[in-house]
Amino acid sequence: MSPTATATKWTCDGCELSVSSMDGEQTGLPEAWVSSDDGLFCLVCRREQAAEDAIASAPDDSPVEKRAEIRRAALIEFEVLRNPDHPDGVIARTCRSSAPAVAKARERLQMPAPDPRKARAN
Ligand SMILES: [Zn+2]
Repeated sequence: MSPTATATKWTCDGCELSVSSMDGEQTGLPEAWVSSDDGLFCLVCRREQAAEDAIASAPDDSPVEKRAEIRRAALIEFEVLRNPDHPDGVIARTCRSSAPAVAKARERLQMPAPDPRKARAN
């Protein structure tokens, strides 16, 4: 791992959202942001990118409903991959989806459901 960069202000290259520390001190990358070769991206843009990538891989003639479905599934998968330890219900709320839909996404990703004891400990 490279050393964590710090700055007084972070600006997303996708939506230009900026995050700065209250007291003007140097802070690390905001939680859930990523710094990649393409730039710096906030969580909202990362989600959007995950959805766009999934839709881009669908056939060009996919109907609108199919695209919406792919998009929803991609968002759930993104959250499952980001927080594999979060219970299905929590991820469902984040994605405005349902727990069974999250469980299905875990199956697709072949990721086991979190250990409930561990989830409570967090
Ligand atoms: Zn952004």
